[in-house]
Amino acid sequence: MTGWRSETVTGWGRAKRSECQVARPETQSGLPDLSVAAPAIGNRRSYGDAALNDGGKLIDMTGLDRILAFDPEIGEVEVEAGMPLGTLVRLYAPRGWLPAVLPGTGFATVGGAVAMDVHGKNHHKAGSFGDHLTDITLIQQGKARRITPKSGAIWKATLGGLGQTGLIARATLRMKPVSGRAMLVTERRAMNWAEHLRLLDSSKATYVVGWIDCTATGSALGRGIVEEAELTPGLTPPPKTPRKVPFDAPPAALSPPVVRAFNAAYYTRVPAHGRTLVRPLDAFFFPLDKIHDWNRLYGKRGFHQFQCVVPLAQADALRAMLDRIARTGQASPLAVLKRMGPGNGNYLSFPMEGYTLAVDLPNRPQAERLIAALYAMTAEAGGRIYLAKDALADGAVIKAMYPDHAKWLGQVEKADPEGRLATDMIRRLDLRRLP
Ligand SMILES: Cc1cc2nc3c(=O)[nH]c(=O)nc-3n(C[C@H](O)[C@H](O)[C@H](O)COP(=O)(O)OP(=O)(O)OC[C@H]3O[C@@H](n4cnc5c(N)ncnc54)[C@H](O)[C@@H]3O)c2cc1C
Repeated sequence: MTGWRSETVTGWGRAKRSECQVARPETQSGLPDLSVAAPAIGNRRSYGDAALNDGGKLIDMTGLDRILAFDPEIGEVEVEAGMPLGTLVRLYAPRGWLPAVLPGTGFATVGGAVAMDVHGKNHHKAGSFGDHLTDITLIQQGKARRITPKSGAIWKATLGGLGQTGLIARATLRMKPVSGRAMLVTERRAMNWAEHLRLLDSSKATYVVGWIDCTATGSALGRGIVEEAELTPGLTPPPKTPRKVPFDAPPAALSPPVVRAFNAAYYTRVPAHGRTLVRPLDAFFFPLDKIHDWNRLYGKRGFHQFQCVVPLAQADALRAMLDRIARTGQASPLAVLKRMGPGNGNYLSFPMEGYTLAVDLPNRPQAERLIAALYAMTAEAGGRIYLAKDALADGAVIKAMYPDHAKWLGQVEKADPEGRLATDMIRRLDLRRLP
């Protein structure tokens, strides 16, 4: 029998917290009973309240992290939902296979990656996580159900579906063959917004991402570093033991002058003519994982991440957002700009063809005001907000940004008519109701 223990559960941003009863099963046999009790969560790497259930229960799936089957001919691997993606990289890259889509943290579990249909630095070439799955085993109201891309609406409602169509127990990933265990990375300076977009637009690389200096203003607005990368054979040093942030940082740790100085140094560390280097896979895909608990750098109050995507033709809206962010002086060094490929039609999947901007902001009242303004600008530009990062949006705005919300809801109502899988995010955004 799996026991329940009381826990304060926070999102990765630590701005939202909830008091929950948490069960952590270690065998599949208990899942049918648990699936009627509470929503499931992974490694709590969503920033806001997607993995919170204040006053209720949660099923922590991280104890279910086994490999169930592997076909070395085609690179298909069936895993339990609590498997972290970084573990798959470490296990299979030496054997010539890599998960086709990886988010910026290796701690994200397969269940969390399904429920958010996560994207990586290769979205423009490879699409989202769900585009590389062959099947998922859901447990709906105590009964196991295997679904595939041919299952239609339930598949589209599950990928990116916030765990509301049932507990995700297992999934089969089709990995991609890789010839090397290292990354060949080219870094180039982008002097300003126009050059940043030009470098992103003209890149032919498999993996492309821009770090953007959200403190730069005037003619330097939008400056940053564009990274392009390919897998390559080669040897890299073994990963170092991750460092840990031992306590909550004081408020001054990420004050505007500190961030401005850090960003200037970060920008100029790449020579004006650019450079190419070989990096270990982990360092490229999961650069922040080498510091455990880095979210404590934002102090006790935590932080928010704003992430939106806007259509290609609305790039100017992003420029206006950057201008606004830079003028408030609130941004942290962590900001990313990327060009995304087309979306995949999953009802609540975030990616759509366009540019995505992600910026971390320390949790203060002025950050909430800034984020509200950025959400309005996103809506105006015909874009959308990424729910894996959100803690502050308004439900009506989100429903308008995701026009297939009603189709998602139709499947969710069948799967969980009594609303037992609802989380704090579902309630805050009132997603279990039509607009
Ligand atoms: C440093 C960092 C970088 C990131 N970079 C990216 C990125 O590049 N691209 C991107 O797309 N995302 C990115 N993310 C977000 C992250 O990938 C997602 O939030 C992901 O869902 C986290 O997985 P998790 O296992 O921690 O899930 P959790 O955060 O614990 O849960 C997320 C959602 O999934 C549901 N869920 C989890 N497991 C199950 C299950 N077994 N059954 C049913 N529902 C379940 C939860 O109810 C919740 O709604 C990043 C996050 C961090 C902290």
